[in-house]
Amino acid sequence: MQNYDILIVGAGCAGLTAAVYAARAGKRVAVFEGNGIGGQIATSPLVENYPGIASISGMEFSNNLLDQAMGFGAELIPAGVHGLRAEGELRILSTDEGEFAAPAVILATGAKHRPLGVEREEELVGRGVSYCATCDGAFFRGKTVAVVGGGSAALVSAWALADLCAKVYLIHRRDEFRGEAALADRLRTRENVEFLLSCQVTALEGDDHLTGVKLSTGADLPLDGLFVAVGQQAQNEAFADVIALDERGYIVAAEDCRTSLPGVWAAGDCRTKAVRQLTTAAADGTVSAMAICGG
Ligand code: NAP
Repeated sequence: MQNYDILIVGAGCAGLTAAVYAARAGKRVAVFEGNGIGGQIATSPLVENYPGIASISGMEFSNNLLDQAMGFGAELIPAGVHGLRAEGELRILSTDEGEFAAPAVILATGAKHRPLGVEREEELVGRGVSYCATCDGAFFRGKTVAVVGGGSAALVSAWALADLCAKVYLIHRRDEFRGEAALADRLRTRENVEFLLSCQVTALEGDDHLTGVKLSTGADLPLDGLFVAVGQQAQNEAFADVIALDERGYIVAAEDCRTSLPGVWAAGDCRTKAVRQLTTAAADGTVSAMAICGG
């Protein structure tokens, strides 16, 4: 068993902000990440609404934040976390790298992409179906692609793909966007972007690679790639036996980030909250770290 002052689960904006504050306050901090560093924002092509930064890619933002946390002495442990238990004053995490204990744990597990829920979706991932324009956009240079979704993630993905692809369809099930109106308005100015509204993907076509989709209008849309950006879902199953979750799997915690288990905080998109943004994730990281470190 290895001992620290604070264990942080998740190296996204919330977790790394907490790591910056806690490590800077002199605490021994371990940050666990079993997937990609940076969380969801690392896959966002463009961030334009973080105060003080006019424009930056999600990947660069994440790398900067990681460097900042490591610079203050936080340790990054590339391991998945499978469980949490309480033993007296200690909170113990079981991870791919064994057990770790600390008096305080911050859960900053974020959320993961929601699948579209169409038959054969999983089978065609990496064969024309993607959840990340930043990661996979370059494979579709000069090609025809579609983005599904009406949130900000879909809008910024379509914007980034429009720089690379010959044609980008934006398929949304309603005629109003959930995402920022300014982003949608700007997207309308792109000549190679076409909006297909009040319309859903009902089937994926192609044998071992996507060749198109069938739409709820009955039309067949030939495509080289389909980018799914239909929101997120929580990933807190590993803690369900010790921490209260809501009916959608988010950790029940208010603005003070305290969970139902003393000594455990929840920061960022993984907790119950109205606004899931980089800024609110950073705020939660700050609130939870300062509650633990004092100040
Ligand atoms: P979101 O805001 O929850 O939007 C999800 C979109 O997918 C909605 O338009 C929804 O349609 C649609 N949808 C959900 N299930 C669907 C299905 N089965 N079939 C078809 N469409 C479906 O999610 P998000 O865009 O991932 O954004 C999440 C959060 O991150 C938001 O707070 C967002 O502002 C933030 N974000 C910000 C930026 C940025 O500013 N750079 C970038 C990315 C994300 P309905 O609208 O009809 O429900």
